[in-house]
Amino acid sequence: MATERIDTLVVGAGQAGIAMSEHLGKAGVPHLVLERDRIAERWRTHRWDSLVANGPAWHDRFPGLTFSDVDPDAFPSKERIADYFVDYAKMIDAPVRCGVEVRKVVRNEGRGGFIVETSEGVIEAERVVSATGPFQRPVIPAIAPRDGVLMQIHSAEYRNPGQLPEGAVLVVGGGSSGTQIADELRRAGRKVYLSVGAHDRMPRSYRSRDFVWWLGVLGLWDIEALAPGTEHVTIAVSGAYGGRTVDFRVLAQEGITLVGLTKGFADGKVSFQPDLVGNIARGDDYYLKLLDKADDYVRRNGLGLPEEPGARDLLPDPDCLTNPILELDLGAAGITSVIWATGFALDFAWLQVDAFDDKGKPKHQRGVSSEPGVYFVGLPWLSRRGSSFIWGVWHDARHVADHIVTQRKYRDYSGPGAPAGTGS
Ligand SMILES: Cc1cc2nc3c(=O)[nH]c(=O)nc-3n(C[C@H](O)[C@H](O)[C@H](O)COP(=O)(O)OP(=O)(O)OC[C@H]3O[C@@H](n4cnc5c(N)ncnc54)[C@H](O)[C@@H]3O)c2cc1C
Repeated sequence: MATERIDTLVVGAGQAGIAMSEHLGKAGVPHLVLERDRIAERWRTHRWDSLVANGPAWHDRFPGLTFSDVDPDAFPSKERIADYFVDYAKMIDAPVRCGVEVRKVVRNEGRGGFIVETSEGVIEAERVVSATGPFQRPVIPAIAPRDGVLMQIHSAEYRNPGQLPEGAVLVVGGGSSGTQIADELRRAGRKVYLSVGAHDRMPRSYRSRDFVWWLGVLGLWDIEALAPGTEHVTIAVSGAYGGRTVDFRVLAQEGITLVGLTKGFADGKVSFQPDLVGNIARGDDYYLKLLDKADDYVRRNGLGLPEEPGARDLLPDPDCLTNPILELDLGAAGITSVIWATGFALDFAWLQVDAFDDKGKPKHQRGVSSEPGVYFVGLPWLSRRGSSFIWGVWHDARHVADHIVTQRKYRDYSGPGAPAGTGS
């Protein structure tokens, strides 16, 4: 059987792969998108049941299509988001082949292009775009106990409170996932301990504008790289229950017990770093500085947005902040399960090309990798803070497609005096 050939192969049909297909299609670049599951599978089946978008429907979307049946200021469910990308792929007639896994990509010897081994045979591609996601492999830190006493799952495996055994739950991680899961468990009547590390938090809305708007007008979605020392700082936001500010003091008032970074497990006990007060203070500082920047923006631009002084009122410190718990006896606290909301790692075992540093981190500039012909889209901070988010990946994909178009033009140039190539 003849080997299938394609100009540009896109691996993954989440939002990144669909955005890539739109831009390649518009530019007339022949391409194929291979997806091992279904379009937007991670939205549909790899997240908890009640998850809604962290950003409102007017913002967390691509420019070409609105969520027709969702109030623009509401937060679409994960199922609705998955449907949105299925509809989008249909609308742009994206050449997506589902149920095909890419197992290995290697460079051709002595000529350009790549050999792509898939679950359905070999494909030759001039270029490969990895759109396999910012959050690929759940990470559980090495401190997790191995004695099998507690039920332990990663946030990627959490679906709903009914999945956990009776008893109290320790949720490790104070980012969007950890805080939303902790809140859901507390509402379901569970005793919850929430282990909070360094984080940034935002007001859900301020002066009648959602935080996504503020990050936009203040240029904070566009900041290009993480400042040194803030590489692991997570953002705590939530669109759940109509959207609310993640305020750890409020969570504590509602019954969640806050603890610092989880240090280790030994002799039936779990210990925590003495950093809770500092972590909460840092989150508050980020929050209050954002309000300052927003006020400044309103002033400089003469906007008539209503003042909201109440947004600066923080609740008094709860008991778990004034007397931080540094050690808990798991049995006495009734903890039977741990949810590790501790993030994800990348996994590029299939992409066997010279596009990674010695730690396995992709080497690229705005998605154009160090291996000619290999591209990345959808990675966290690919070009800016917004890169792993729905709207951000669309813009990054446009840049990558533009690079591909330019490279095709070089390829098609056949030397002085020859007719111009056909690549456009
Ligand atoms: C809990 C959670 C909530 C989030 N909420 C929001 C939000 O509200 N708003 C927002 O903008 N962003 C949100 N994000 C961030 C981001 O939008 C999502 O992570 C999104 O799924 C990323 O899309 P993607 O296309 O880059 O990657 P993915 O959705 O991970 O898609 C990658 C695809 O590649 C496929 N694939 C992987 N390897 C292969 C292979 N070898 N061969 C073939 N196919 C392969 C996978 O099956 C998958 O379908 C959230 C993330 C998480 C974890």
